[in-house]
Amino acid sequence: MAGLADHCGVCGTELSFALPICPICKKAVCESCAFRMGGSVFCGSACANAFFFGGQEDVEDESDLRLLEEE
Ligand SMILES: [Zn+2]
Ligand SMILES: [Zn+2]
Repeated sequence: MAGLADHCGVCGTELSFALPICPICKKAVCESCAFRMGGSVFCGSACANAFFFGGQEDVEDESDLRLLEEE
């Protein structure tokens, strides 16, 4: 059932099940890339802020990516 596979729009990891979709940019996000806020799943804090604060683009999304990679 290849149709069920999905790949993360952030890190590109392929997984054998459907991933949550960022409601802002429509990218699928895997467990390790998911940014959770307010019960929703986003691809990063930039999209989370856009969702909750109306798309203000004053968030440094690149520093956010670095934080996620540190683990
Ligand atoms: Zn990922
Ligand atoms: Zn997004």
